[in-house]
Amino acid sequence: MMNSPDTRLTIRPIPAFKDNYTWAIGNARGDTVLVDPGDAAPVEAFLAKTGRTLRAILITHHHADHTGGINQLCKNRDIPVFGPAGGHIKGVTNSVNDGDVFTLLGAHIKVMAVPGHTLDHLAYLLQEQTMDSDPSAPALFCGDTLFAGGCGRLFEGSPEMMYTSLLRIGALPEQTRIYCAHEYTLSNLGFAAKAEPDNEAIELRRVLESHKREQALPTLPSTIFEELRTNPFLRCHSVCLKEQVSIQMAQELHSDLETFVYLRRWKDQV
Ligand SMILES: [Zn+2]
Repeated sequence: MMNSPDTRLTIRPIPAFKDNYTWAIGNARGDTVLVDPGDAAPVEAFLAKTGRTLRAILITHHHADHTGGINQLCKNRDIPVFGPAGGHIKGVTNSVNDGDVFTLLGAHIKVMAVPGHTLDHLAYLLQEQTMDSDPSAPALFCGDTLFAGGCGRLFEGSPEMMYTSLLRIGALPEQTRIYCAHEYTLSNLGFAAKAEPDNEAIELRRVLESHKREQALPTLPSTIFEELRTNPFLRCHSVCLKEQVSIQMAQELHSDLETFVYLRRWKDQV
């Protein structure tokens, strides 16, 4: 069923710290849901400037640059905070797990467990159409799991875990919009060009994304379509990429997972 225009949602970035984005999902009435407010101050400024009302918070994982604003934002507001189960994140009121579906702003939000960067990492799939997208494009808030042109570091999970999470995200519909939590795109694509030098789509994307940054625009959201073409961490099947990783890391590689392991290790060194 098509949503009427006044029930459609907008998704806006609120820059925080050096290169974080807190995402603000809003409806036409000004109701707003935040994803990963690491810092309360820029969020309060955004709410004051736009006249919006904070209704709920979604948390992808426990790191402070994603959770640091919860306490302050909830001080004088009675709002739900959805996040990983386990009780380790102060302020989470609604623990959610893989496969859970809940409704906010009239939209269905599906929870995906995507461990690897941390063990508790969740992604939120907003299945409704938004003002910013094609009619059928879902939006994925994936925190520090998948980045435009890259992926998060493995702080807690195993490579197998992370690779499985990335493949799961990569299997979403190609038009799915990717709202990750950091502006790392240009440096990621710089590495991607080294890892897969014969991939012309990477060079082309670097030019396009550079233009956005020159105008101080976010490079996000990305799409699954774009990531499958240009993100080396979703391209471990590529023969050219395998060769480069093998040479760089002086390793014989026998599987896509092994390629991922040494690709991630290579990226950690640069
Ligand atoms: Zn993190």
